[in-house]
Order: sequence, then structure tokens, then C-alpha cells
Amino acid sequence: MRSSPWGQLRIAIIRKQKTLPENEIDFANVTTYHENLAKRMVQSITKVVFWGVRGSTPAPGPHTSVYGGNTVCVEVATSGSGHFILDCGTGIRALGNSWSQGQFNGDTVHTLVTHYHWDHIQGIPFFLPFFEAQNLFHFYGFQSKHLGRDSFRKVIETQFSAPYFPKEQAINLKDCTFREVTGGEKWEAGGTQITAAWLNHPQGCLGYRLDTAAGSIVYATDHEPGVSEFDRNLCQLADNADVLIYDAQYTPEQVATNRKGWGHSSWLDGVKVATESNVKNLILFHHDPTSSDKIVDQVLSNARNGFRRTWAAAEGMSLILSDHGLEAAFAVPKPSIDFC
Ligand SMILES: [Zn+2]
Ligand SMILES: [Zn+2]
Repeated sequence: MRSSPWGQLRIAIIRKQKTLPENEIDFANVTTYHENLAKRMVQSITKVVFWGVRGSTPAPGPHTSVYGGNTVCVEVATSGSGHFILDCGTGIRALGNSWSQGQFNGDTVHTLVTHYHWDHIQGIPFFLPFFEAQNLFHFYGFQSKHLGRDSFRKVIETQFSAPYFPKEQAINLKDCTFREVTGGEKWEAGGTQITAAWLNHPQGCLGYRLDTAAGSIVYATDHEPGVSEFDRNLCQLADNADVLIYDAQYTPEQVATNRKGWGHSSWLDGVKVATESNVKNLILFHHDPTSSDKIVDQVLSNARNGFRRTWAAAEGMSLILSDHGLEAAFAVPKPSIDFC
């Protein structure tokens, strides 16, 4: 049994987006917030925490300290039995550390990777819960034509082998399961309905939709628009979603010119998909490593002119979905651009 799925984030500001008034409310911490939700007799809650939001390669430093420099990793926890990790970039290390500090005492965790590029897998060797015998992991990823059967297992085992890792580690994969999934597939895990769809990205990439009791989350990163089959997949996957987490790595100009073919989108593509698919909230994600906090602020500002309920993913940011709508909370320091 887990002790608490709600994390240890220091929360500065919580703003209501969907059904509650838009006035600012300050809460001391997420526990207080959770208690407030309980008083309001919320039926179901799903929490999304961003542990890494950067694409391509880690980009730590003073210019990325607000949005964060770790590569992509998102945690989703439902008030039922659903506990999910979406991608395993370097952000997964801090997630593992938070569990080791008492936030998690062994449970079943469903780990989904979109594809096997470095920024989506490179945190795996430093995720401590993989070494703890009480944890059970179910892994999901597609069969890569470059890796063949058991692609995700091979990716993990290779990362722990010489000469990539200094010591042979007894990673606890004995009772874990690996499932190879493909676009169009639907399955149930931890009380949550999951749907996978192919996106347009070099060597393939899956987008995932998680339909939880508290709302739907679509995780669609690493997608380049312009190929109708994949664009259709994305719109169907995102249809009426409560939250769309979307690749916004490049500028619209870069997508059209010198970054064409790299498999990524811009904030403008995010606005178009969110509008066409009637999603309730758009989260810009997979920020370019060269994008400073100032640039991401500008990207967010541009996107909000086209789709008002837009956020830029930041490390430590959490979203809470309930029958009261969506609430967003930031770890300190919060992004400098406010929702207004
Ligand atoms: Zn990526
Ligand atoms: Zn990629």
C-alpha cells in the first residue's frame, strides 16, 4: 500500500481553470489542498506531476531554472489503483527519490514509453525503485524494427551493461511484465482505460490517452504535423480530452524550415490540435534545450492568444483533475507568466 500518492511538492499558487472562479488562492502545501478537496466530497481524483519537461537533452542552468532542465517524465496517479509513469527521461530520478523518501511503499506501477530516443529513456539507470524488491512494474512500449522482440526490455538491460554502466546491478525485473503495444490498441490498467496511437516521428512514436475516473489525459509528445494519417490519429486520440500534453519544441518557423523532419511541433500546432479536438486544457511540453525560461514564457504567451487555457509544463508542476475541474499547482519558483 502506498502512504500517499500526492507527493511532497511545495506549492506556491493554485489557480482554477475549468469550473471554479479564477481568483488566486494560496495554499501552504498540497496536503492542505488535498484536505480541501476531501471536504468538498470529491468522488475521484487524478494527479499529474511533471518531473521532466525538456526534449532532446538535459539543459540545466540559470536560464532554465524556472521550467527545468530534466528530460521528459510525467507521473499520473489516480485515487483508485492507477499509478503510471509516462517516459523515463532524467526527470525520473527525482521521482524515484521522492518515493524513497516515504511517498511510496511498494505498489504496482505501469510504465509507458512513447519511443526509445535518449530523452525518453536515459533516466532509467538512476531510478532507485527499480532496485527495490517490493515494487512491481509493468512496462509498455512498441516493438522497434531496430531492436526486434522485447524492445523495451533490451533497452533497459543494455543501459545496465558494460561499457555503459560501471557496475553490474541487480535490477528487479524478475516479476515485472513487458507488453508490446501498437497504435490503435486499447487496454485497461489500474482501473484506467489506455489507448495508444501512432504519431509522426523518426523511428516511430506512440501517443497515449489515459481515461481515468476523474478525467482524460492525452500524452502526445514528439509529433511532427503534416502527414494526414498521423494528424488524424492525434485528433482522434485527443478528442474532448480534459488535458492534452503536447510537443511544442520548435517555433512555427523552425517546423516549416530548418527543423522539418526532426519530428516535432510548435505551440501553434498545439493550439490547432487543442481547438480542433475540443480539448479543455493544453499543456505545452518537450521544451527545446536551447529555450530559456524567457523564451518559454513568450511561447506560452503566444499560445494563450490562440487558446486561452494553455499552460507550459514546468518541473514540479502538478495538475489535479476532479469533478471540480482542473487545478494547476507549481513548485516554487512558479513560472513568471501568470494566468489572467
Ligand atoms: Zn523527445
Ligand atoms: Zn524522439
